[in-house]
Amino acid sequence: MKYLRKPILLLSFILTFATCSEDGDLNVFSVEQDLELGRQTNQEIRNTPSDYPILDTEDYPEAYSYLQRMVNDIVQQGDVAHADVFPYEVTIINQDVQNAFATPGGYLYVYTGLIDVLDNESELAGVLAHEIAHSAERHSTNQLTKQYGFSTLVSVITGGDPGLLSQIAGSLLSLRFSRSDEAEADDRSVDYLCNTRYAANGAAGFFESIQDGSSPPEFFSSHPNPDNRVADINARAQEQNCSTTTGDQTAFQQFKADLP
Ligand SMILES: [Zn+2]
Repeated sequence: MKYLRKPILLLSFILTFATCSEDGDLNVFSVEQDLELGRQTNQEIRNTPSDYPILDTEDYPEAYSYLQRMVNDIVQQGDVAHADVFPYEVTIINQDVQNAFATPGGYLYVYTGLIDVLDNESELAGVLAHEIAHSAERHSTNQLTKQYGFSTLVSVITGGDPGLLSQIAGSLLSLRFSRSDEAEADDRSVDYLCNTRYAANGAAGFFESIQDGSSPPEFFSSHPNPDNRVADINARAQEQNCSTTTGDQTAFQQFKADLP
């Protein structure tokens, strides 16, 4: 009996912690574990400058304060989940790559190569809102739950295998979202921006800007491209009577000019 009781206790522990998102995805991680995975991944990125040449905050204080203020505007409008737990902190990677990404727990990264092709600040707000949504809706740990399977993740949840969390943090950087995650992040970007001074369909403008170039942007390698996403974003903004006008661009142009 002594040996039988432990698995039963473990199972009830897992069932207590496993949560379903609104669209029914099972997630065996806790919100705090999302944050822990994010911290570890952020550390790994900072320890690998050859792969992730990070723009130094001390050398570019104005650029960072402009970008972080934009993130704060989006997060503080009230609809972003876990805003009291996740840091929603943005980092600029100085590389000619048209991409942006987010870890679990709210660590956001934008490449200078992406910022360079954007036309206005609402497009930048759109891509940031989209990445914030991936963290807030916990898409990475939903995917990990599917990828690693329930039984492997038992060890993570119970702390039985401390090395496994690091291993999983490592695999996060090559994780691909699903098309439904992408569609949800697009929807949330409209919802978030609707309550800000940025155009609510900023993400649609962003997709149009990155598709203008001749080579396919890296963004779509980690974020699969659902059909009709520009039309869907515009339709959602219209349905909810959100403003789609973008205001004065002086600060945005200055921000772009300040970057290397
Ligand atoms: Zn995405």
